[in-house]
Amino acid sequence: MNAPVAKPWVLDIAPYIPGRSTTDDGRKAVKLSSNENPLGTSPAARAAFERAATSLERYPDAAAHELRDALATHHDLDPARIIYGNGSDEVLHLAAGAFAGPGDEVIYVNYGFSVYPIAARRVGATPVVAPDNDYATDIGAILACVTERTRVVFIANPNNPTGTFATREEIARLHAGLRADILLVIDHAYAEYIDEAVDDGAMELARNAPNVLVTRTFSKLYGLAAERIGWGYASAAIIEAMHRIRLPFGITIAGTAAAIAALNDRDFADRTRAHNAKWRDWFNAEIARLGNAGLRAVPSQANFVLVLFEGDLTAQAAYQGLMDAGYIVRWLPGQGLPHGLRITIGTEAETRAVIDILNNLVADARNAAMSG
Ligand SMILES: *Cc1c(COP(=O)(O)O)cnc(C)c1O
Repeated sequence: MNAPVAKPWVLDIAPYIPGRSTTDDGRKAVKLSSNENPLGTSPAARAAFERAATSLERYPDAAAHELRDALATHHDLDPARIIYGNGSDEVLHLAAGAFAGPGDEVIYVNYGFSVYPIAARRVGATPVVAPDNDYATDIGAILACVTERTRVVFIANPNNPTGTFATREEIARLHAGLRADILLVIDHAYAEYIDEAVDDGAMELARNAPNVLVTRTFSKLYGLAAERIGWGYASAAIIEAMHRIRLPFGITIAGTAAAIAALNDRDFADRTRAHNAKWRDWFNAEIARLGNAGLRAVPSQANFVLVLFEGDLTAQAAYQGLMDAGYIVRWLPGQGLPHGLRITIGTEAETRAVIDILNNLVADARNAAMSG
């Protein structure tokens, strides 16, 4: 042995693939591949970020008092039961790290968020994939995967990359069907996009049940992906365990200031939600018009839509055609979706352009099929 040997479970990890922002030939493109906010960031958040430039020599508050207090006020929570991290990605890793290890099983759904297998394998746990039900989360299938070795169940609601939503009844059924020693992690990265009248009950479970963690992020609706601020809510015992393994200074002063300002800018959040709902509806209606060409939109409650290509135009050809036109979306063959593209809802102009390009590509593919 003449070099350090990485752990076998680490070598089993397929590295995370981030959304691209340049084309194959290196041109900067319109990026609709990472579910970022097309309206940018709250002006108040940007101003708070700029003010933080005066204290770069200081370590951040390791206990994140101000962030926890702001979140507790906004969401009516106990600040002592809020964990925070370098994006909600870190919080997801903390959940796996504190509650799973070698010999344990971690369940997540087919077509689930690609961080879950990484978080499970990183700690030596065994990932278990529950089958989907036409791309949606299948509660019965998850419960059927539970064994005595199950320690953590991850679900995202709405889910990424499918955009599908599990109802309050389904979440309640999942929780009721899990043993009390299994941690149920409900990833709410896109929860702010759900119709405000709709509540999946996840936060209520995190408030009251001893085995539920809800994670949230400032990266999506709040438009702060660059600043890496995520958080979670669970019982005091779960939070206490996660604190033991988090990075001591995992969130920055500037990011924290921006996040608190973003939280208080309800106007920006409302405008983002309204923009997304309007253009997602429009986008879905246009995809429905391409149904006879084999395109289908999976019903989405998030700020993106998974479009399936089941006709002459393949997802791969559509991905290339969009890229040639300067638009990058997410093609996910590595996640079992060679026939789908996950497309972020962009600005009005971007959303219209994607539909125009898809219409042209469909016509080209139809002509090629007829002449071929
Ligand atoms: C984007 C995303 C996250 C987290 O992002 P952070 O930037 O790390 O907060 C978590 N879960 C899902 C399902 C996501 O799509």
